[in-house]
Amino acid sequence: MSGSEAREEAKEMEQQAQEPQREPVAPAVEEMTIESVMAIVAHPDDAEFSSAGTLARFAREGKRVYIVVCTAGNKGTPDPDMQGEDLAAMREREQLGASSELGITETIFLRNPDGELYPTLEFRKQLVEQIRRYRPDVVITHDPWRPYALHPDHRAVGITVADAVYPTARDAIYFHDHYEAGLMPWKVGEIWFYGAEKPDHYVDISETFAHKISALKQHDSQVGRSTELETRMRERAVEVGKEGNLPMAEAFKVVKLRR
Ligand SMILES: [Zn+2]
Repeated sequence: MSGSEAREEAKEMEQQAQEPQREPVAPAVEEMTIESVMAIVAHPDDAEFSSAGTLARFAREGKRVYIVVCTAGNKGTPDPDMQGEDLAAMREREQLGASSELGITETIFLRNPDGELYPTLEFRKQLVEQIRRYRPDVVITHDPWRPYALHPDHRAVGITVADAVYPTARDAIYFHDHYEAGLMPWKVGEIWFYGAEKPDHYVDISETFAHKISALKQHDSQVGRSTELETRMRERAVEVGKEGNLPMAEAFKVVKLRR
């Protein structure tokens, strides 16, 4: 340090000493208390593939956990002879089985046609209704901004969830008819996007990985013939875990909203 720098520093310290005592810097905002979590997904099995370990963890911690499935999943088959209605019924049963493996509080089926979701105001209203009814602190959904995200329903759900959470569910002026049904505005605390290009939150799923697998296996129409499901999912969880310094993980991009 040169002489002039040392003098500058001494001057600065002197000035600081003369200044009135400031309040200590406010502590970092406390972690939000999470009582309720809602995964809003396009199809039966999306919640399990993306975040079953996380949802099972929340459920084990005694939080209320909801899964909202936006489409009936009635086109999710390579079999051209399969009737859409039969498939939809089968997939609801499978989803309920999976939800039960994870300890989900309630599963909500919106039954929109598979492959036909758009970010319309009508669809947003459906989601706002669920958010106002169940009042989740955290909403988990598809990341609609991931480059080259290919499924139209995944993009539509992600973007509509974001729009439903903020500002629509929060602001009183939207959808007055909800009030007549007793559904009041609700501020979600955080949105967790899965499938994000740059995740910033990793959840340790080593304790709940077995539940994730047993939940996925309930989706027999989708993964019934897969013999490598568990190996594939384990490899993926370990790989994601490495990024977050955890043994096994699921990853999210978290967007915090002012409450
Ligand atoms: Zn899907």
